[in-house]
Amino acid sequence: AKGLGKNRYEVFNSQLYLQVSQRLNLELEMWQAVERGEFTLVYQPIFNLSTQKLVGLETLVRWPHPTKGMISPADFIPIAEETGLIIPLGTWVLQTACQQFHLWRQSYPYEFTEDIGLSINLSSKQFSQAALVEQISNILKANKVPGSCLKVEITESILMEHLQSARQMLHELKALGIQTVIDDFGTGYSSLSYLSHLPLDSIKIDRSFITCMEQTPENLEVVHAVISLAQILKLDVVAEGIETDSQLATLKTLGCPHGQGYWYSRPLPPELVPAFLREHS
Ligand code: C2E
Ligand code: CA
Ligand code: CA
Ligand code: CA
Repeated sequence: AKGLGKNRYEVFNSQLYLQVSQRLNLELEMWQAVERGEFTLVYQPIFNLSTQKLVGLETLVRWPHPTKGMISPADFIPIAEETGLIIPLGTWVLQTACQQFHLWRQSYPYEFTEDIGLSINLSSKQFSQAALVEQISNILKANKVPGSCLKVEITESILMEHLQSARQMLHELKALGIQTVIDDFGTGYSSLSYLSHLPLDSIKIDRSFITCMEQTPENLEVVHAVISLAQILKLDVVAEGIETDSQLATLKTLGCPHGQGYWYSRPLPPELVPAFLREHS
């Protein structure tokens, strides 16, 4: 039995070694990818559910890995968070999306009207930087993007983690005309009191609720409650992950103002965005 134990230990050890080395390798490749500009951005349209008009675009990062194929941000963003790589990557996302947005507004003024917004996801590490708002302000200025066009998406957990600095930060963002969206609403702490005490603009209902709302009455109740709460607090609502006709119909019945999902469009590469917008404005 002792021998077996030792073997097991070695098996475990070599698996662990493999995991650690693969992970280190991925980290190294990510740093190189930032330096070489290998990341790309796609943009998912956000719609007004009653007019069916496009109201904004959510920026989503992609990593087309030279040998492993497309790696999902769900896999590399957490590693980028832990290693600090999210700071240069997040800056690159902000800079590149704002530059792209300005180009679009310049080249397609008829499609890119004042009320088309640009949403960008912020991570916890980025949010803990005192100079974040100043950096965003500089990037907006350098790219001639009005603050009123930008929406930053942060999760509930980021908000709770940085509750002290968050208040100040959100006020600074508001002063620049930037809107704040609570992303993945319903999956985190769900302390409702902060909603009314912080200068927030919008709530994004997590896809998991939209996916399940027609199967489980509890999920439908949550979606209904969030929409009602938002109305009382004068917050906008975006439902994410709308995939079917009936999900869309249900959300309309509940009075949900905005939504996004594969039913409308998958995230689009930048070259397809202007034509898509033309069709939906
Ligand atoms: P998220 O912010 O909740 O973004 C929505 C995710 O749902 C995106 O996945 C989008 O492609 C996917 N999605 C949209 N509609 C549908 C639908 O109808 N059905 C299904 N099944 N999925 C849908 P993606 O692009 O893989 O991003 C995953 C997460 O990675 C994002 O979740 C966000 O938390 C993070 N992320 C992506 N880009 C960035 C970024 O630039 N910065 C930071 N900090 N995080 C990012
Ligand atoms: Ca988001
Ligand atoms: Ca989300
Ligand atoms: Ca989500």
